[in-house]
Amino acid sequence: MTEPVLSVRDLKVEFPTRRGILTAVDGVSFDIAPGEILGVVGESGAGKSITGTAIIGLIEPPGRIAAGEVMLRGLRIDALSGEAMRKIRGKRIGMVFQDPLTSLNPLYRIGEQLIETITTHLNLSGAQARTRALELLAEVGIPAPETRIDNYPHQFSGGMRQRVVLALALAAEPELVIADEPTTALDVSVQAQIIALLKRLCRQHGAAVMLITHDMGVIAETADRVAVMYAGRIVEVGPVRDVITAPLHPYTKGLMGSIPSLTGETDRLTQIPGSMPRLTAIPSGCAFHPRCPRAFVPCPTFRPELQNEAKSQVACWLYQPFPVTAGALP
Ligand code: SF4
Repeated sequence: MTEPVLSVRDLKVEFPTRRGILTAVDGVSFDIAPGEILGVVGESGAGKSITGTAIIGLIEPPGRIAAGEVMLRGLRIDALSGEAMRKIRGKRIGMVFQDPLTSLNPLYRIGEQLIETITTHLNLSGAQARTRALELLAEVGIPAPETRIDNYPHQFSGGMRQRVVLALALAAEPELVIADEPTTALDVSVQAQIIALLKRLCRQHGAAVMLITHDMGVIAETADRVAVMYAGRIVEVGPVRDVITAPLHPYTKGLMGSIPSLTGETDRLTQIPGSMPRLTAIPSGCAFHPRCPRAFVPCPTFRPELQNEAKSQVACWLYQPFPVTAGALP
């Protein structure tokens, strides 16, 4: 089997507070193969963005990676120094965030920012870097790149800025791109263009992608596999087609039921009752049990782990024998 580009094992992210330690990511494991697009989906507060932030080493102290490993092509990166990690970000891992202005400095022309990234990470002269920057701008669909290269970020629309961020993310030919809600801040009409562009460019550049979103529609359009997160854990992971057409976990089924059908066969959208638990009050056992229509004897007490089921993995007692002692529970 080919070595994964990214391998995350038992990742745990904690935030110490005056009221105790809050666990935002609790034992998350997954791989992303070369060239693969893994969608990570869940409601707000599921831990998906914190997982991405932990991978790129940008958890704000006192938050910390409390356990687990993050490997980039076999190199352990969760324990690197800040300086070593800075070199990896931008060079080996490209990043696209929800707000393009997080990645772009408003005080510098976009050409200067692209050229700086290119010369920092690739062995190119200033003139070569400018040529490369122009190529990248053309590649991401910026019209008249020779003129636009000297514009400031505020001179671009939101969609065009996100295209520039894509150029910046890909400038150093990274092996992995982490895109966190890359289209959420954009007009609906622009969202599909940016998603199509992200997919096409990453395929062309051979980059693997971790695509974090709350939008199952974006996942369906883009991803090869999808990991569904709930309360800091992965509850289901599998090929996108299988997860969408035949979801296993009751939470995934609820997410699917809330997506409008293009064929119009469903006249009512279903809603998952309740909301994602706060970090201060994650339910015992299966954290989804207070909202789960299928909850039964073991669910409030015992936490299910991911197990193979068909081509996917699912963490739910409906698919595995529950602990014998649970039979004695009321
Ligand atoms: Fe529902 Fe129980 Fe499965 Fe959790 S383990 S999703 S509560 S059936």
